Amino acid sequence: MFQTSYIELSEQAVKNNIDFIKRFLGEGVTFSSVVKGNAYGHGIAHYCPLAYKYGINHFSVFSAGEALNVTKALPEKDFTLMIMGQIENSELDWAIENNVEFYVFEQNRLDAAISYAQKLGKKARIHIDIETGMNRTGFAQKEITSALKKIEANLDFVEVKGICTHFAGAESIANYKRVKDQFNRFKRFQTKVKNYPWLQAKSHIASSSATLRYPNSQLDMVRIGILQFGFFPTQEIFVHYATKYKTGENPLKPILSWKTKVMDVKTVKAGEFVGYGTSYFTNRTTKIALLPVGYSFGYSRSLSNQGKVLINGARFDVVGTVNMSMLAVDVSTDESIKKGDEVVLIGSQGNQELSVSSFSDFSQLINYELLTRLPQDIPRIITK
Ligand SMILES: *Cc1c(COP(=O)(O)O)cnc(C)c1O
Repeated sequence: MFQTSYIELSEQAVKNNIDFIKRFLGEGVTFSSVVKGNAYGHGIAHYCPLAYKYGINHFSVFSAGEALNVTKALPEKDFTLMIMGQIENSELDWAIENNVEFYVFEQNRLDAAISYAQKLGKKARIHIDIETGMNRTGFAQKEITSALKKIEANLDFVEVKGICTHFAGAESIANYKRVKDQFNRFKRFQTKVKNYPWLQAKSHIASSSATLRYPNSQLDMVRIGILQFGFFPTQEIFVHYATKYKTGENPLKPILSWKTKVMDVKTVKAGEFVGYGTSYFTNRTTKIALLPVGYSFGYSRSLSNQGKVLINGARFDVVGTVNMSMLAVDVSTDESIKKGDEVVLIGSQGNQELSVSSFSDFSQLINYELLTRLPQDIPRIITK
């Protein structure tokens, strides 16, 4: 296998989550599956074909490189692909040639898109990104009129597929006012562009949090990332959902499990330090299992003396510092654990479960970061 750990993706969980999200969307709302960050660490090559199988035909990514990976994952398939962030001017001809849609939020990209489109004799398919208060990308209010004029003068070369913005934190009620103000600014923009008969584009502003929390922000399309992988964006969004719909049950299923094997076991006598430095001291005779996974594999060093793993259906503590390629766990309570035993780093074993969020509570990493740090070269295996 030539790898020290592997990731399993549950096909049944993919279907479950997509079905749940679809049921939640208003009539006619397009579900764009956001697969940036290598499909939140799940792997574009493996996740996209599964999502497509269960009815997704719109994908969003951050960069042109990620877009290329999606096209490779879905050869000969009919779907829409949208780049929400970075594309070099020199990559625009590739995008236009391949009907890849992309955000435009500054004049230079708009000009470049028009000039490539003229050269190729093919329309650039763009989404106009509006600054509404996040102060990230987006045309400022004062730039918008001239951008729209430019587009209007070049309708043979540009087709506006969408108008959009992004909320600065719909996952927390602390941002309520800011998000509400953004929504109002966006609505004013929508009203303004109603006067342009050629601008019949999809409006889209909601990610997972807004889709659940502010269903009236679903508009024509939602851009769903974390939810499809089986996680609520924050605990707060889950509590909101559970309260509003009077259910204690989590409707989502995590797709990803991460597993490895015990590489060695040994007994350390009382009064010794384990691993580098002095962060773990044995107060008693301690049986240690060594695992071939460290921070270079995406197992955060901040889980030193904090993380948990599952072996033989029980939980064990990570002891000492997480090394670049290895970590140690205290397995003193199970005499039978031996070299080669399966270890679950994320996922379930027997009736125990280690969720990504329980994990991120210890490491101060949010779900998103922990998942997307999983290296691309860990093999992904699809299970039922
Ligand atoms: C990442 C991203 C999303 C998806 O966010 P989730 O919280 O994972 O649903 C939507 N829109 C934009 C612009 C994004 O960058």
